[in-house]
Amino acid sequence: MPGPQFYQYLSKEQEKELARIANAIVAPGKGILAADESTGTIGKRFSPINVENTEENRRLYRQLLFTAPKEAAEHLSGVIMFHETLYHKTDDGTPFVKVLKDSGIIPGIKVDKGVVPLAGTDDECTTQGLDGLAERCAQYKKDGADFAKWRCVLKIKPQCPSYQAMLENANVLARYASICQQNGLVPIVEPEVLPDGDHDLETAQRVTEQVLAFTYKALSDHHVFLEGTLLKPNMVTAGFSCSKKYTAEDIARATVTTLARTVPAAVPGITFLSGGQSEEEASVNLDAINRFPGRRPWALTFSYGRALQASVLQAWGGKKENVPAAQQELVKRATANGNAALGKYSGGEQGAAAGKSLFVAGHAY
Ligand code: 13P
Repeated sequence: MPGPQFYQYLSKEQEKELARIANAIVAPGKGILAADESTGTIGKRFSPINVENTEENRRLYRQLLFTAPKEAAEHLSGVIMFHETLYHKTDDGTPFVKVLKDSGIIPGIKVDKGVVPLAGTDDECTTQGLDGLAERCAQYKKDGADFAKWRCVLKIKPQCPSYQAMLENANVLARYASICQQNGLVPIVEPEVLPDGDHDLETAQRVTEQVLAFTYKALSDHHVFLEGTLLKPNMVTAGFSCSKKYTAEDIARATVTTLARTVPAAVPGITFLSGGQSEEEASVNLDAINRFPGRRPWALTFSYGRALQASVLQAWGGKKENVPAAQQELVKRATANGNAALGKYSGGEQGAAAGKSLFVAGHAY
C-alpha cells in the first residue's frame, strides 16, 4: 500500500513570512492587547461605567487605548480588533491600523462569528465562521492585519467536555488555522477551557491536557505550519467556585506541565487569555509561569482582554477629561505584564480595579 501523499501546503516564502510575524508577536517582554470585544460584549463593559454602547463611544474608547503613551506600546506587540474597529480612524482621520503600525504594534483581527450550541450535548458549543473565511482573511490582510484570532469554548462539568465537543472544536480551529495561513495571517488558536465550576486544579489540568491534545492532533491532520501559529489557552486554574485555594506557584506548575505535555516545541509562543482573573492575579500568575523551573521551549506571554482593560474603563468612565488618567492605567498594566512575561514582575502595580475579580459566568466574547 502506498504511503500518504503530501501536497504543497505553503511556499517557503509564505512559511517564512508567517514565522516572522508569529515570532515578532512573542518578542521578549511583549504581549497582546485583546480589544476585539464584539458589539454586544463591549456593551457589557460600558454598562457598569454608564457609557452608552454607540459606534462613536466604541471608537473613542479604542482611540484611547491605541493612542496611549509609548510606554504602553513598548510592552505590546499586537492588538486584536473586532471588524468595525479595524476600519475606524482617530479624530484627526488617521486609520487605527496606521496608528498601531506607527507605534510598532501588529494589527490583528477576530475572524470567528461567535459560539453556537452543539445539539445533543449538555449546553456545549462550537464556533462558527468558516463560510467565506478565505475571502475575509484575504481582505483583512490587504487592509493591514497580520494575524487573526478564533475562540472556541469548552466547559468542565461531570460529562463535559464531551468527545464530540473536543473533536469538533479541535477540527474547526484547525480549518480556521489552515485558511488563515493560506492568506498570510498568523492564526491564534484559542481553545478556552472555561473556569466556571467548583472543580479543583488537578481536574482543570486533566481537561486542559486533553483539549490541547485534541487540538494539536487536528492541526497536524490539517497540515498546519506550527512555526507560523500561536496558542491562546487558559492558564490551568481551579474552577471559580472551588473551595480550595492554590498559590501562583501551584498554577504555574499545573500550567507549564500541561503545556509541556501537549504543545509541540515548534510553536513559537503561547499567549494566555486572562479568563476572569483579576488584573493583579493575571500578572502574578504569568510571572510565576515564567519563573517556573520546568522545561519551557516556547515564549509565554499575555493576550489579555479584561485584565488589561478593567482599570482603564473605570478610570475613563466615558469622560474626555479622564482620557490621560485612563491611558496611564493601560501603561501600568502593560508594563506589569511585559515584566511578568520576563519573570520580572515584583507585584503591587495596583490600578483602580487591580484586585477585582473579572469573572463573568459562561463568558462570551
Ligand atoms: P480575557 O483576557 O478577557 O479572558 O479575553 C481574552 C480573549 O481574547 C478571549 O477570547
